Amino acid sequence: MTQQTLAIIKPDAVGKKCMGEVVRFIEQSDLRITAMKMIRMTKAEAEGFYAVHRGKHFFDSVTTFMSSGPCVVMVLEGAEAIARWREMMGLTDPGKAAPGTIRAKWGSSIEKNVVHGSDAPETALFEVRYFFSEMEIIGGKE
Ligand code: ATP
Ligand code: MG
Repeated sequence: MTQQTLAIIKPDAVGKKCMGEVVRFIEQSDLRITAMKMIRMTKAEAEGFYAVHRGKHFFDSVTTFMSSGPCVVMVLEGAEAIARWREMMGLTDPGKAAPGTIRAKWGSSIEKNVVHGSDAPETALFEVRYFFSEMEIIGGKE
């Protein structure tokens, strides 16, 4: 099934100048980038984005990190895009991520782990709409 998912290149990756390599990695896959922009989230915007994690021990730290510098937000589209992108990212902890995945290659800690990906169709819809209007997403035409 063709799906959309929300991907973020996090501030650690932009800071260490590997966003180009992450974009290249996506371009070499079967996923299509249908929207992309650079943003800097406020702390409140990061808290709204990660609202499902409110109350967890890492909530304050991760939202401070996500608002610490620019991010690149993207919509990725393709067959089973949600699972496919999470497979390409690797596990949350870069030390446990499979070799060849983005987090294994460029991640530095369980928090500074380079990329984000939606985890289910409902969260993908919420997250895509959090950052993009319909007009900003490229349609299905090649
Ligand atoms: P993401 O939602 O960013 O794609 P994920 O789904 O693999 O990552 P989540 O459990 O949703 O992981 O956690 C969201 C983010 O919070 C993680 O990507 C990471 O940056 C941070 N995080 C998660 N667990 C921890 C932890 N134990 N300590 C510090 N930061 C954490
Ligand atoms: Mg998550």
